[in-house]
Formats: sequence, C-alpha cells, structure tokens
Amino acid sequence: PKPIITIENVNKYFGQLKALNNVSLSVRPGEKVVIIGPSGSGKSTLLRTINRLEEIDSGRIIVDGFDIMDKQNDINRIRMEVGMVFQNFNLFPHKTVLQNLTLAPTKLKKIPLAEAEENGRRLLRKVGIEEKANVYPAQLSGGQQQRVAIARALAMNPKIMLFDEPTSALDPEMIGEVLDVMVHLAREGMTMVVVTHEMGFAREVADLVVFMDQGEILEVGTPEHFFQEC
Ligand code: ADP
Ligand code: ADP
Repeated sequence: PKPIITIENVNKYFGQLKALNNVSLSVRPGEKVVIIGPSGSGKSTLLRTINRLEEIDSGRIIVDGFDIMDKQNDINRIRMEVGMVFQNFNLFPHKTVLQNLTLAPTKLKKIPLAEAEENGRRLLRKVGIEEKANVYPAQLSGGQQQRVAIARALAMNPKIMLFDEPTSALDPEMIGEVLDVMVHLAREGMTMVVVTHEMGFAREVADLVVFMDQGEILEVGTPEHFFQEC
C-alpha cells in the first residue's frame, strides 16, 4: 500500500538550532511507528510537523495525498484527519468531559449535537470512563484525563493518531490504563505515530522503531532489531 504519511528531506530550525536535519520517513496505513531518542533530539518537533503545529523550513510532508505546506490547502482538513494526544492532556477545562468530545465534531464537522453526544458516549465507553461524561477535567485523575483526550481525538474519526509522550506526565500507576487504550487502538488497525519512552509499548506494538538524535533519524528498524542487542 501507498504511504499515508510521507516526510521527505525535512529541515526545521529554531533560530540557529537545527531541530530537524534532513528527516525522511514514510508511514503506511495501519502502521505503528514509535519514535525514540534522547531528550531534545527532535522527536516532538517531528511529530508536530505532521499536522503543522510546527512549520518546516524545507522539504515536503504529504498526509493522505495532501501537501500540508501548500497554503492553497485548508489545514483544518488535515487536522480533522490527524488526531493528536499531548503529554499534558490539553482538555478544555471549562467544558465537561462529554462537551470536550462534542465540541470539534459539532463546530468543525457540523455533526448534530445528539449524534455527537451518542458517539462521544460510545468513545467514553471504549476508553472505560463512561460514568465521567458530565464531570469537568479537573475532577479526573491524570490517567482518566488522558483517556478523555484520546477519546476526544477519536471523536473526529481520524485516519491517523499522533501521540506525544502520552504517559510522561502520569503517575506510574496510571500509565498502564493509558497504554492499554493505545494497544487496543493499535489492534483495531489505527495508523499511529507515537513518541514515547515506554519501551514495552514499542516492543509490543511497533511495526517500526525510529531512533532520533540531534535532529536526525539515525536508525529505523523493527522492535526485534532494536531490542535484541540491548
Ligand atoms: P524531543 O521531543 O526529542 O525532546 P524537541 O523536538 O522537543 O525534542 O526539541 C528539539 C530541539 O528543539 C531541542 O533542542 C529543543 O530545545 C528545541 N525546541 C523545541 N521547540 C522549540 C521552540 N518552540 N523554540 C525554540 N527551540 C525549540
Ligand atoms: P507540552 O508537551 O510542552 O506541554 P503541548 O504539546 O501540550 O506542549 O502543546 C504545545 C502547544 O500547542 C500549546 O501551546 C498548545 O496550546 C498548542 N496546541 C495544542 N493543540 C493544538 C491544536 N490542535 N492546534 C493548534 N495548537 C495546539
């Protein structure tokens, strides 16, 4: 199958700092790619270029046949196809859990509220927190908030899910409940690009592991390749 994400010779500077150095990577539909590497190596920057949260200085990024740097194109279309989950959940604090899930579908996709709510409840069931539909994010544990954030991203029915260190802000006892949801999503066939330090997740789920250092992809291989020798 043709790649759903093609990243070609991408360079990205923050002032003098070269955050991405000639990065190329393809992701096929249904593939799970885990990006690893030391802090500051450009993992998050690379992930964020895929939905243009970061603009690139040169190179090309094609997502689902759509050149995301082409200013003629509507970036909102790509943001609808590419769900993102952040380290710090980024839920809307003044909206209930269910409202967090219905806001984008009703506003951006014009889905009727009743339908968005029904779908939202289905997704909350899927991530195991249906009973929290009417509370506010601050009333939830970190693990629960992150599961809401995953459900919120899924509410847009994305083709691709990006995860930026989704468990790094969580207490250890909550990491498992979030990884379980991610493993489940992976088994359902979602295309996923995940920045994480959870090597168990990488070993279990990744089709491809990408190792970055100092803005460069130094190695791409299977989990077997990466975790055998170390
Ligand atoms: P990683 O995710 O691997 O920890 P990042 O992609 O967050 O790395 O960062 C790569 C490099 O770019 C780091 O040196 C970081 O300090 C720098 N950087 C990231 N975001 C910014 C920014 N908004 N402004 C300036 N420098 C940044
Ligand atoms: P960190 O991991 O350092 O806490 P995040 O990755 O959570 O940072 O968020 C970085 C920035 O991106 C924040 O300022 C946030 O408001 C912004 N952001 C988050 N989601 C979106 C989005 N869908 N569109 C545009 N900007 C966003």
